[in-house]
Amino acid sequence: MSHPAVVAIDGPAGAGKSTISRRVAERLGFLYIDTGAMYRCVALAASRGGLNLDDEAAVTGLAESVRIHFSARCKEVFLDGEDVTQAIREPRVSDAASRVSKVPGVRQAMVEEQRRIASGEPVVMEGRDIGTVVFPQAQVKIFLTAEPMERARRRALEMEAKGLSADVDEIARQIEERDYRDANRSDSPMVQAPDAVRLDTSNLSLDEVEQAILGIAADKLKISVEGVR
Ligand code: C5P
Repeated sequence: MSHPAVVAIDGPAGAGKSTISRRVAERLGFLYIDTGAMYRCVALAASRGGLNLDDEAAVTGLAESVRIHFSARCKEVFLDGEDVTQAIREPRVSDAASRVSKVPGVRQAMVEEQRRIASGEPVVMEGRDIGTVVFPQAQVKIFLTAEPMERARRRALEMEAKGLSADVDEIARQIEERDYRDANRSDSPMVQAPDAVRLDTSNLSLDEVEQAILGIAADKLKISVEGVR
């Protein structure tokens, strides 16, 4: 039996993956899965438990034992039953997430869960390794990117909208550090899959990016999507 459809959306921090993936999933009627939120949950649990993030065995054990689940449309994220939607977005959790996600045992536990979730229904899954490692056979693969300063500017706007103070240069520095770590780790580095379509969103509106991805999805999945030629 063939696997339900997978739309894989990978790319660096701040490229707009979450907003776009959510919108694309809604238009297609597919489940949306934010895999970054899963690594963030492991990072939060590790920090709260006072674990040394370089202790691979301890962090792997934790990743294998935590329960992570999402509410409908990935709006809320729960860690062992607690709503951590806000807590996992803190900058120190972003940094810790990119540290724990280097650990092969952590990745193995998360990938297993991601494959399980997508086994029963079509998904739009966003992350760093979806088109390369989690679902190399995904029918639709997008690598979403944007100029580093534009990504930092978008993150700053997001934070300001939430009433948080934001220093664009500091955000740019944090994003650069995280991207470097994500792209240079030995297990499942962030890299564009050879058969992924690269979309630079620096000069595109959200609507334009959404339409472009829906067009690619309609073509590859041989489906018709309302409002997309
Ligand atoms: O996407 P987001 O910025 O929330 O991801 C947080 C961190 O989780 C990333 O910096 C990356 O280190 C890690 N991650 C990963 N593989 C994924 C998704 C996220 O390694 N598929």
